[in-house]
Amino acid sequence: MVYPPSLERLISALRGLPGVGQKSAQRMAFSLLSRKRDAAAQLAEALQQALDQVRRCSRCRLYAEGELCPVCQSSQRDATQLCVVETDADVAAIEQGAHYNGLYFVLGGHLSPLDGIGPEALGLDLYARRLREEGFREVILATNPTVEGEATAQYLAELAAAVAIPVTRIAHGVPVGGELEYVDGSTLAHAFSGRRSVGATR
Ligand code: ZN
Repeated sequence: MVYPPSLERLISALRGLPGVGQKSAQRMAFSLLSRKRDAAAQLAEALQQALDQVRRCSRCRLYAEGELCPVCQSSQRDATQLCVVETDADVAAIEQGAHYNGLYFVLGGHLSPLDGIGPEALGLDLYARRLREEGFREVILATNPTVEGEATAQYLAELAAAVAIPVTRIAHGVPVGGELEYVDGSTLAHAFSGRRSVGATR
């Protein structure tokens, strides 16, 4: 072992981040410990604060401090529209590109029976309760256009159809098999304006 244990530990923690390999992790660690000690202290503090304070919104499962996220707290949002997405990154992409001003529901993934991810893991009891209680006039399904995303959308559409809420699916311009997070803003805006009605199969 070349480095002292605490430095080894820092490098291995950084290596756990998405897209960070051994060399990048080393570079980051050296940078934090040499030139950027103040920034490193701020990073540590920000990380600890986020860990202590950031939770899931009890209504839409976006990140929140306290009970509700900023979107759910806002009186400026259109509470008649609900957009369902797989991840927080999808919400960020939509907020930046899609001229959407309704509410959200974050699944945190898609239905994947083989991996043991069923309706409970995606919070679909909460989703169904919101459909019953909140008086939405449109549910927009913005799950990814992958096989799993489409299957999940179908399931979500059936739950909305059961309480007679119109359902639309974004489609136009989002590449099949692609992920929303990586679609550029204007394509996403078209995907939203070109959304089409979805009929449930039962
Ligand atoms: Zn929320």
